[in-house]
Amino acid sequence: MSNKKYFETYAVRGASCGDNVTGSISYPIYQTATFKHAGLNNSTGYDYSRVKNPTTEELEKTVALLENGKGAIAFSSGVAAITACIYLFKFGDHVILSDDLYGGSFRLFNQTFKNFEVNSTFVDTTDTNNILNALTKKTRAIFLETPSNPTMKVTDISAVAKICKKNNLLLIVDNTFLTPYYQKPLDLGADLVIHSGTKYLGGHNDVLSGFVVANDESLIERLRNINMSTGAVLSAFDSWLILRGIKTLHIRLDRAQENAIKIAQFLNNNTNVEKVYYVGLEDFEGYELNKSQATGFGSTLSFRLKDKNLVPKILEEVKVITFAESLGGVETLITYPYTQTHADIPEQIKQRLGIDEYLLRLSVGVENIYDLIEDLKRVIGV
Ligand SMILES: *Cc1c(COP(=O)(O)O)cnc(C)c1O
Repeated sequence: MSNKKYFETYAVRGASCGDNVTGSISYPIYQTATFKHAGLNNSTGYDYSRVKNPTTEELEKTVALLENGKGAIAFSSGVAAITACIYLFKFGDHVILSDDLYGGSFRLFNQTFKNFEVNSTFVDTTDTNNILNALTKKTRAIFLETPSNPTMKVTDISAVAKICKKNNLLLIVDNTFLTPYYQKPLDLGADLVIHSGTKYLGGHNDVLSGFVVANDESLIERLRNINMSTGAVLSAFDSWLILRGIKTLHIRLDRAQENAIKIAQFLNNNTNVEKVYYVGLEDFEGYELNKSQATGFGSTLSFRLKDKNLVPKILEEVKVITFAESLGGVETLITYPYTQTHADIPEQIKQRLGIDEYLLRLSVGVENIYDLIEDLKRVIGV
């Protein structure tokens, strides 16, 4: 009989099923900076919390199990996790990225790391020809988000993985939107999976965190060394909050997705809405492809209004839903990518991607669906 357990069991129990020393059901928070030595060359295996902390280690093992990875490394935020991946590259290296992606990832590549000559090209990765055309001798990696942020474009992970294998490139997939509950990029051929654990993994809009998950031991070691050396580690308490959040990941996601499908249908039939971007709608472009590589749709969606003058009314007059950035928490949030999450993307690119004054993004939570729809009816109309 195999020891392997199902996703939900790992989510609830974590890697260690609590603390086996005291029997504590909740994994203890090792709130310490340093660890004592019993003698010279005699360490418990823990020396200093930037290098290794038991609570953070338990979280890392749990996230690795959920993603079917051999190892995971926790970071203080999602962008710290992405930054660690960029430290794998050197001066002159080139990375190809999805053009529709988290605004902070765009800023990191297009501003921060440009100064270090780690160069990037942003293409529409839904068509693999665009990737092939962007390849250079210096290309080292492809970085995908699928579904993308905020227009939910779906990229074929296995197809891109084949291109990567053939050209000896790393495939990095930001899996924040679907989480391993719905999508496991390592199984589809990705080398590195990124998470903003701030979103669905934490799930309560109360803590920041990030992860990199991998199967290759040497990559895991390199990234662990980068994490320890650059210092953007996750604290013991924040690790515990994420462990606690993960216990209900599958329940929260199923309910949030159920709500999101109903809201997407409501918006799709609304006369003031021009288009709904959600992979859970059967007539949406990426529906079939997403279904072939993921078991769910998530609960983040965007929609385009016919009249941009409705935007301030919606953002200021929602009562149940909150006007705030971020996503993946139990609370439903609405945001305006144009001036918020994607503010740092140049105007011309935003217009091309459809991230304009008409676009709003919803992160659907787990409140009562009738309250959510009533709130939307009041501000958008029926
Ligand atoms: C939020 C987000 C990030 C950045 O994560 P932080 O935890 O805010 O640093 C990266 N990728 C995606 C898809 C995100 O939604």
